[in-house]
Amino acid sequence: MADNFSCLDNMIMVLVDPSHYGNIGSAARAMKTMGLSDLRVVTTKECIVNDDSLALSKGAADILKNARVFATLDEALEDITLVAGTSARMRSIELPLYQPREAAEKILPHIANNMKCAILFGRERTGLTNEELQRCDIHINIDANPEYSSLNLAMSVQVLSYELRQAVLRASELPLVKNDYDDGLRKPKHSDLEQFYGFIEQNLKDCGFLKENHNGSVMGQIRRVYAKSDMSAHELRIIYGTLASMLKHRH
Ligand code: SAH
Repeated sequence: MADNFSCLDNMIMVLVDPSHYGNIGSAARAMKTMGLSDLRVVTTKECIVNDDSLALSKGAADILKNARVFATLDEALEDITLVAGTSARMRSIELPLYQPREAAEKILPHIANNMKCAILFGRERTGLTNEELQRCDIHINIDANPEYSSLNLAMSVQVLSYELRQAVLRASELPLVKNDYDDGLRKPKHSDLEQFYGFIEQNLKDCGFLKENHNGSVMGQIRRVYAKSDMSAHELRIIYGTLASMLKHRH
Protein backbone atom coordinates (compact mmCIF):
# COMPACT_ATOMS: atom_id res chain seq x y z
CA MET A 1 0.00 0.00 0.00
CA ALA A 2 1.29 3.45 -0.87
CA ASP A 3 2.36 5.49 2.11
CA ASN A 4 -0.52 7.75 3.24
CA PHE A 5 1.87 10.66 3.40
CA SER A 6 2.79 10.34 -0.28
CA CYS A 7 -0.14 12.66 -1.10
CA LEU A 8 2.00 15.45 0.38
CA ASP A 9 4.04 15.22 -2.84
CA ASN A 10 1.13 17.08 -4.48
CA MET A 11 1.43 19.95 -2.03
CA ILE A 12 3.45 22.91 -3.24
CA MET A 13 4.73 25.74 -1.09
CA VAL A 14 5.37 28.92 -3.07
CA LEU A 15 7.51 31.73 -1.66
CA VAL A 16 6.69 34.95 -3.47
CA ASP A 17 9.67 37.29 -3.76
CA PRO A 18 11.40 36.47 -0.46
CA SER A 19 14.29 38.80 0.34
CA HIS A 20 16.28 36.71 2.85
CA TYR A 21 18.12 33.64 1.61
CA GLY A 22 18.04 32.29 5.17
CA ASN A 23 14.24 32.20 5.08
CA ILE A 24 14.30 30.14 1.88
CA GLY A 25 16.60 27.60 3.56
CA SER A 26 14.47 27.55 6.72
CA ALA A 27 11.31 27.05 4.66
CA ALA A 28 12.93 24.03 2.96
CA ARG A 29 13.77 22.60 6.37
CA ALA A 30 10.25 23.26 7.71
CA MET A 31 8.79 21.38 4.73
CA LYS A 32 11.12 18.39 4.92
CA THR A 33 10.45 17.80 8.62
CA MET A 34 6.76 17.37 7.74
CA GLY A 35 7.27 15.27 4.61
CA LEU A 36 6.68 17.95 1.96
CA SER A 37 9.17 18.38 -0.86
CA ASP A 38 7.95 20.67 -3.65
CA LEU A 39 9.24 24.19 -2.98
CA ARG A 40 8.83 26.91 -5.61
CA VAL A 41 10.20 30.42 -5.44
CA VAL A 42 9.03 33.38 -7.49
CA THR A 43 12.01 35.68 -7.63
CA THR A 44 14.37 37.76 -9.71
CA LYS A 45 17.33 36.30 -7.78
CA GLU A 46 19.58 34.36 -10.09
CA CYS A 47 20.18 31.53 -7.67
CA ILE A 48 18.50 30.76 -4.36
CA VAL A 49 21.21 28.38 -3.17
CA ASN A 50 23.99 30.21 -1.33
CA ASP A 51 25.84 29.97 2.00
CA ASP A 52 22.96 31.54 3.95
CA SER A 53 20.15 29.45 2.51
CA LEU A 54 22.24 26.27 2.70
CA ALA A 55 23.21 26.88 6.33
CA LEU A 56 19.59 27.25 7.43
CA SER A 57 18.25 24.40 5.35
CA LYS A 58 20.48 21.99 7.35
CA GLY A 59 19.50 18.44 6.33
CA ALA A 60 16.97 19.75 3.81
CA ALA A 61 19.54 20.96 1.28
CA ASP A 62 18.00 18.55 -1.25
CA ILE A 63 14.64 20.37 -1.07
CA LEU A 64 16.42 23.70 -1.47
CA LYS A 65 18.52 22.52 -4.41
CA ASN A 66 15.52 20.94 -6.13
CA ALA A 67 13.35 24.04 -5.61
CA ARG A 68 12.14 25.49 -8.89
CA VAL A 69 12.56 29.19 -9.55
CA PHE A 70 10.01 31.17 -11.57
CA ALA A 71 9.99 34.72 -12.91
CA THR A 72 6.22 35.10 -12.49
CA LEU A 73 3.55 33.74 -10.15
CA ASP A 74 1.38 32.53 -13.02
CA GLU A 75 4.21 30.35 -14.30
CA ALA A 76 4.72 28.89 -10.83
CA LEU A 77 1.01 28.01 -10.64
CA GLU A 78 0.61 26.57 -14.13
CA ASP A 79 -0.25 23.00 -13.01
CA ILE A 80 -2.11 23.90 -9.80
CA THR A 81 -5.84 23.37 -9.22
CA LEU A 82 -6.32 24.94 -5.77
CA VAL A 83 -4.41 28.03 -4.66
CA ALA A 84 -4.38 29.31 -1.07
CA GLY A 85 -2.87 32.63 -0.04
CA THR A 86 -1.57 33.26 3.47
CA SER A 87 -1.75 36.66 5.06
CA ALA A 88 -1.57 38.19 8.51
CA ARG A 89 -4.03 40.79 7.29
CA MET A 90 -7.68 40.05 7.95
CA ARG A 91 -9.43 42.95 6.35
CA SER A 92 -9.73 43.87 2.71
CA ILE A 93 -9.25 40.31 1.51
CA GLU A 94 -12.57 39.10 0.19
CA LEU A 95 -11.85 35.41 -0.08
CA PRO A 96 -13.22 32.49 1.94
CA LEU A 97 -11.16 32.62 5.15
CA TYR A 98 -9.71 29.52 6.85
CA GLN A 99 -7.53 28.76 9.83
CA PRO A 100 -4.61 26.41 9.03
CA ARG A 101 -6.37 23.29 10.37
CA GLU A 102 -9.57 23.88 8.39
CA ALA A 103 -7.55 24.76 5.31
CA ALA A 104 -5.61 21.51 5.58
CA GLU A 105 -8.93 19.60 5.79
CA LYS A 106 -10.14 21.36 2.65
CA ILE A 107 -6.89 20.72 0.77
CA LEU A 108 -6.53 17.04 1.72
CA PRO A 109 -9.13 15.52 -0.65
CA HIS A 110 -7.53 17.41 -3.55
CA ILE A 111 -4.00 16.18 -2.95
CA ALA A 112 -5.21 12.69 -2.02
CA ASN A 113 -6.86 12.55 -5.45
CA ASN A 114 -3.69 13.59 -7.23
CA MET A 115 -4.48 17.23 -7.85
CA LYS A 116 -1.81 19.77 -7.11
CA CYS A 117 -2.44 22.48 -4.51
CA ALA A 118 -0.30 25.49 -3.69
CA ILE A 119 0.00 27.69 -0.64
CA LEU A 120 1.49 31.13 -1.30
CA PHE A 121 3.66 32.97 1.22
CA GLY A 122 4.42 36.65 0.80
CA ARG A 123 7.35 39.01 1.18
CA GLU A 124 8.88 39.46 4.64
CA ARG A 125 8.10 43.17 4.73
CA THR A 126 4.91 43.59 2.76
CA GLY A 127 3.31 40.16 2.32
CA LEU A 128 1.31 39.31 -0.81
CA THR A 129 -0.07 42.06 -3.03
CA ASN A 130 -3.79 42.33 -3.69
CA GLU A 131 -3.17 41.22 -7.24
CA GLU A 132 -1.43 38.07 -5.99
CA LEU A 133 -4.25 37.37 -3.54
CA GLN A 134 -6.68 37.64 -6.44
CA ARG A 135 -4.99 34.55 -7.88
CA CYS A 136 -6.12 32.59 -4.80
CA ASP A 137 -9.21 30.49 -4.13
CA ILE A 138 -8.97 30.74 -0.35
CA HIS A 139 -7.26 32.89 2.29
CA ILE A 140 -5.46 31.31 5.23
CA ASN A 141 -4.82 33.33 8.35
CA ILE A 142 -2.81 31.92 11.24
CA ASP A 143 -4.57 33.07 14.37
CA ALA A 144 -2.10 35.12 16.40
CA ASN A 145 -1.73 37.93 18.91
CA PRO A 146 -3.77 40.79 17.45
CA GLU A 147 -1.12 43.23 18.73
CA TYR A 148 1.62 41.42 16.80
CA SER A 149 0.27 38.92 14.30
CA SER A 150 3.04 38.74 11.72
CA LEU A 151 4.99 35.47 11.94
CA ASN A 152 8.35 34.89 10.33
CA LEU A 153 7.98 33.61 6.77
CA ALA A 154 9.55 30.17 7.35
CA MET A 155 7.61 29.72 10.59
CA SER A 156 4.38 30.26 8.68
CA VAL A 157 5.51 27.54 6.27
CA GLN A 158 6.13 25.32 9.31
CA VAL A 159 2.63 25.84 10.75
CA LEU A 160 0.93 25.02 7.45
CA SER A 161 3.19 22.03 6.73
CA TYR A 162 2.49 20.66 10.22
CA GLU A 163 -1.28 21.00 9.82
CA LEU A 164 -1.18 19.27 6.45
CA ARG A 165 0.69 16.34 7.97
CA GLN A 166 -1.78 16.22 10.86
CA ALA A 167 -4.69 16.19 8.42
CA VAL A 168 -3.18 13.18 6.63
CA LEU A 169 -2.63 11.46 9.96
CA ARG A 170 -6.27 12.00 11.02
CA ALA A 171 -7.55 10.80 7.66
CA SER A 172 -5.42 7.67 7.74
CA GLU A 173 -7.35 6.57 10.81
CA LEU A 174 -10.52 6.73 8.68
CA PRO A 175 -11.14 5.07 5.35
CA LEU A 176 -9.59 7.59 2.95
CA VAL A 177 -12.11 9.27 0.68
CA LYS A 178 -10.46 8.39 -2.60
CA ASN A 179 -12.14 8.58 -5.95
CA ASP A 180 -14.99 10.81 -4.88
CA TYR A 181 -13.55 13.19 -7.45
CA ASP A 182 -14.74 11.78 -10.71
CA ASP A 183 -13.93 13.77 -13.81
CA GLY A 184 -17.02 15.91 -13.41
CA LEU A 185 -15.76 17.23 -10.08
CA ARG A 186 -12.11 17.73 -10.98
CA LYS A 187 -10.95 21.31 -10.38
CA PRO A 188 -9.79 23.42 -13.31
CA LYS A 189 -6.08 24.07 -13.73
CA HIS A 190 -4.91 27.52 -12.71
CA SER A 191 -3.78 28.25 -16.27
CA ASP A 192 -7.26 27.37 -17.66
CA LEU A 193 -8.93 29.69 -15.16
CA GLU A 194 -6.48 32.47 -16.02
CA GLN A 195 -7.25 31.98 -19.71
CA PHE A 196 -10.97 32.28 -18.89
CA TYR A 197 -10.46 35.49 -16.87
CA GLY A 198 -8.29 36.84 -19.69
CA PHE A 199 -11.13 36.13 -22.13
CA ILE A 200 -13.67 37.96 -19.94
CA GLU A 201 -11.32 40.91 -19.37
CA GLN A 202 -10.48 41.27 -23.06
CA ASN A 203 -14.13 41.19 -24.10
CA LEU A 204 -15.19 43.64 -21.39
CA LYS A 205 -12.41 45.96 -22.59
CA ASP A 206 -13.43 45.57 -26.21
CA CYS A 207 -16.98 46.61 -25.43
CA GLY A 208 -15.76 49.56 -23.33
CA PHE A 209 -17.17 48.30 -20.02
CA LEU A 210 -13.91 47.98 -18.11
CA LYS A 211 -12.52 51.34 -19.14
CA GLU A 212 -15.52 53.10 -17.65
CA ASN A 213 -15.60 50.96 -14.51
CA HIS A 214 -12.06 50.84 -13.13
CA ASN A 215 -10.50 47.79 -14.65
CA GLY A 216 -8.76 46.41 -11.52
CA SER A 217 -11.56 46.44 -8.99
CA VAL A 218 -14.26 45.16 -11.33
CA MET A 219 -12.06 42.30 -12.53
CA GLY A 220 -11.20 41.54 -8.89
CA GLN A 221 -14.87 41.23 -8.04
CA ILE A 222 -15.58 39.09 -11.07
CA ARG A 223 -12.74 36.77 -10.10
CA ARG A 224 -14.09 36.50 -6.57
CA VAL A 225 -17.57 35.52 -7.74
CA TYR A 226 -16.13 32.68 -9.81
CA ALA A 227 -13.69 31.67 -7.05
CA LYS A 228 -16.56 31.43 -4.56
CA SER A 229 -18.51 29.22 -6.91
CA ASP A 230 -15.75 26.59 -6.64
CA MET A 231 -16.29 25.54 -10.29
CA SER A 232 -15.18 22.15 -11.54
CA ALA A 233 -13.18 21.87 -14.77
CA HIS A 234 -16.35 20.65 -16.48
CA GLU A 235 -18.41 23.62 -15.23
CA LEU A 236 -15.68 26.02 -16.35
CA ARG A 237 -15.86 24.55 -19.86
CA ILE A 238 -19.66 25.06 -19.86
CA ILE A 239 -19.50 28.70 -18.70
CA TYR A 240 -16.64 29.48 -21.08
CA GLY A 241 -18.47 27.75 -23.94
CA THR A 242 -21.79 29.54 -23.33
CA LEU A 243 -20.15 32.98 -23.16
CA ALA A 244 -18.04 32.34 -26.27
CA SER A 245 -21.02 31.10 -28.25
CA MET A 246 -23.18 34.09 -27.24
CA LEU A 247 -20.41 36.39 -28.44
CA LYS A 248 -20.02 34.56 -31.72
CA HIS A 249 -23.77 34.77 -32.29
CA ARG A 250 -23.76 38.55 -31.85
CA HIS A 251 -20.95 39.16 -34.37
N1 SAH B 1 3.45 42.73 6.89
C1 SAH B 1 3.23 41.54 6.15
C2 SAH B 1 3.82 40.39 6.90
C3 SAH B 1 4.63 39.55 6.07
S1 SAH B 1 5.23 38.17 6.94
C4 SAH B 1 1.75 41.34 5.90
O1 SAH B 1 0.98 42.21 6.25
O2 SAH B 1 1.30 40.35 5.35
C5 SAH B 1 5.68 37.12 5.60
C6 SAH B 1 4.64 36.10 5.21
O3 SAH B 1 4.45 35.15 6.26
C7 SAH B 1 3.27 36.63 4.88
O4 SAH B 1 3.17 37.16 3.59
C8 SAH B 1 2.44 35.36 5.02
O5 SAH B 1 2.65 34.55 3.89
C9 SAH B 1 3.09 34.70 6.23
N2 SAH B 1 2.45 35.10 7.50
C10 SAH B 1 2.99 35.78 8.53
N3 SAH B 1 2.12 35.89 9.53
C11 SAH B 1 0.99 35.28 9.15
C12 SAH B 1 -0.30 35.04 9.76
N4 SAH B 1 -0.58 35.47 10.98
N5 SAH B 1 -1.21 34.35 9.04
C13 SAH B 1 -0.95 33.89 7.81
N6 SAH B 1 0.24 34.08 7.19
C14 SAH B 1 1.19 34.75 7.84
